[in-house]
Amino acid sequence: MSEKIQMKTPLVEMDGDEMTRIIWQMIKDILILPYVDLKTEYYDLGLVHRNETDDQVTIDSAEATKKYGVAVKCATITPNAARMPEYNLKEMWKSPNGTIRAILDGTVFRTPIIVKGITPYIPTWTKPITIARHAYGDVYKNTEMQVPKGSKCEIVCTDENGNETRNLIHNFEGTSGIIQGLHNTDKSISSFARSCFNFALDTKQDLWFATKDTISKKYDHRFKDIFNDIYEAEYKDKFESNGIEYFYTLIDDAVARVIRSNGGYIWACKNYDGDVMSDMVATAYGSLAMMTSVLVSPEGIYEYEAAHGTVQRHYYKHLKGEETSTNSVATLFAWTGALRKRGELDNTPDLVEFADKLEKATIKTIEDGVMTGDLYLLSSLENKKKVNTEDFLKAVNERLAAM
Ligand code: NAP
Ligand code: MG
Repeated sequence: MSEKIQMKTPLVEMDGDEMTRIIWQMIKDILILPYVDLKTEYYDLGLVHRNETDDQVTIDSAEATKKYGVAVKCATITPNAARMPEYNLKEMWKSPNGTIRAILDGTVFRTPIIVKGITPYIPTWTKPITIARHAYGDVYKNTEMQVPKGSKCEIVCTDENGNETRNLIHNFEGTSGIIQGLHNTDKSISSFARSCFNFALDTKQDLWFATKDTISKKYDHRFKDIFNDIYEAEYKDKFESNGIEYFYTLIDDAVARVIRSNGGYIWACKNYDGDVMSDMVATAYGSLAMMTSVLVSPEGIYEYEAAHGTVQRHYYKHLKGEETSTNSVATLFAWTGALRKRGELDNTPDLVEFADKLEKATIKTIEDGVMTGDLYLLSSLENKKKVNTEDFLKAVNERLAAM
């Protein structure tokens, strides 16, 4: 590769915090800038700059993503009490991911990166399982109460004309207890469905969806119906011509089938199911550092990132001048995902090919036995060697340059 690859449209680049911010710069310097005439619109989402801009930079970066269609994001600190004095914060700013997701109305898809030598805890999962979590409503936006003995609890809906509909939840005659009100919206469920159908078409994988509609005949059934109606009206033909399938089943049947499967599909989950199952699936594949994440809006806007956080403990070592062996693979795949998508949208096949090669070089490096400490502990390869953060990226570059 002598001449640098040209880009037509900029990527939205969202820089971040701590160890991942260090890795971010290394990835660009070692693996991207030597090969690509990189065009980005840069937003510094590091906590210092978020605080300086009263978090406006996060909103601006999400708006830019809407404009350009593709973003790549570094992990960022979601401040807690300990971060207030550490960064001298004006406010405990909200999670940038939450802000961006709300603006893009997107769904998060998490996919493990599979390499030889690291066997999932479920060894028959030879292909990745991508989990899509609906990130709105249900128990995460609930209203709940403890109620005293003798209470009569009802669910009441007042429509716009003031008409009330009441249903009994429970008469707490002999005992005190608890109640909970949940909601979701047709709009949010429809967006979730479209993001899932689009991502399935994009990655040419089957889409599975499951709820408990036999028990929840109105609530969960509504999810099932919305998915089905949108599928029939907008996606059935496209799925058939791409040879992929939309498959609905009950959540407990889905869990059983997932365990017996070889992977290679997208599993759309309601909010709580996705919360629980994404942690189970991520753990089974071995390492959070090998999990990529992409936020997809119903209009087909993409924001790529790693699923892990800023790896704070490694950063403090780095600040003390100690050597780190932090895994950069998920962050690197966020870059390749974004560059590939940019290339597809702009019809620049060189960029797509570069992203493919960079991913292959990364996987080859690990399969050659060169890896960071987290993978070193998991790998069954005999000739494995633990390297530091920077040397791993240099080892990838040796292979990339030879391709
Ligand atoms: P984390 O950064 O994901 O790290 C948790 C632990 O997992 C690390 O201490 C490390 O274990 C291991 N690990 C994660 N990524 C790794 C990598 N790339 N290479 C090697 N080991 C890795 O989660 P956290 O410590 O809970 O959160 C730290 C900060 O990240 C918080 O401020 C949080 O708000 C933020 N966060 C951001 C995002 C995001 O932007 N998407 C997501 C989650 C968390 P060892 O220390 O044992 O080596
Ligand atoms: Mg969870």
